[in-house]
Amino acid sequence: MWPYSDSMRGSELGVDDIETAVDTGAVPRGDRIDELLDAAYQRALEHAEGAVADYIPILADADPEGFGICVADVDGGIHEVGDTRYAFSIQSISKAFVYALLCDAVGHEAVFEMVGVNNTGLAFNSVVAIELNDGHPMNPMVNAGALATTALMPGGTAEEKWDAVRTGLSRFAGRELHVDEEVYRSEAATNHRNRAIAQLLESYGRIQADPMDVVDVYTRQCALLVDAHDLAIMAATLADGGVNPVTGDQVVSADVCRDTLAVLAASGLYERSGEWLFEIGLPGKSGVAGGLVTVAPGKVGIGTYAPRLDSAGNSVRGQVATAYLSRALGLNIFASESHFSGRTPE
Ligand code: GLN
Repeated sequence: MWPYSDSMRGSELGVDDIETAVDTGAVPRGDRIDELLDAAYQRALEHAEGAVADYIPILADADPEGFGICVADVDGGIHEVGDTRYAFSIQSISKAFVYALLCDAVGHEAVFEMVGVNNTGLAFNSVVAIELNDGHPMNPMVNAGALATTALMPGGTAEEKWDAVRTGLSRFAGRELHVDEEVYRSEAATNHRNRAIAQLLESYGRIQADPMDVVDVYTRQCALLVDAHDLAIMAATLADGGVNPVTGDQVVSADVCRDTLAVLAASGLYERSGEWLFEIGLPGKSGVAGGLVTVAPGKVGIGTYAPRLDSAGNSVRGQVATAYLSRALGLNIFASESHFSGRTPE
């Protein structure tokens, strides 16, 4: 049964014994990445805590043991272990990429006004957060802000907005993405809370389109099928100044990547974003079907799939594996060594 009652505390990630590499500006050689990927996989496999999401009925059918990790370099190299080609719905991870597309289309100032960039400290589908903030959706990574973001996507009709979302996310992945109709129908039949959020936003004048149309496009965007390999490439595109490292397509600008990653760092793992940043030190985004993306700017994108979630809705094995890789590959953006190390200060 999800929400799983125990929280995934940083100390439980079990990575304190890992030899920490410090950022050298480059990731290790390919075969070393493969070794570390296997070690991260084995380490995370020990974690069977958490629970599969079931508030969207169809998600309860996921195999809790499904698990894959993929790392995509910014030069297009792919490293993968486990179920990296198993398709699942992207869910909230779509928020990161739709946000990037919107910023690219209309400029981040306009989006900043309408959507905001501050963490709510509350659950992703909180209604209280909207009320506490005078109707402001707060940030694009919670449902209120994601609905406001989708509403602002280019297009005069819901169909045109949907097309902009699907085409844009497909360019991030480097292949055409399709909706899982069963997931879409399952969520559309039960998403009363998202409808309430959209209507609440409308009552505050914060949504500039028909709220039910917006919920529908958002529900479709969450039902797009991806695998861990897609997620790694999508993340690597954000790590690579907006250029998909496999197709060479400039999907969004480098400035948009920078702004999107800042928002992910602040709010990508909902109310657990601070703990994530403290342990892993990288922008990331989770989804309730078990996906997780992490971006090491200028280096790699990491995509994981493991459907057991902590109480905030973040993949448990995904967090453990990513924590391992962040340490072992020296990816934490906050880590440094004294520039005197290795030489005598004058
Ligand atoms: N479609 C889901 C929802 O709106 C996405 C939530 C998530 O992945 N955290 O509830």
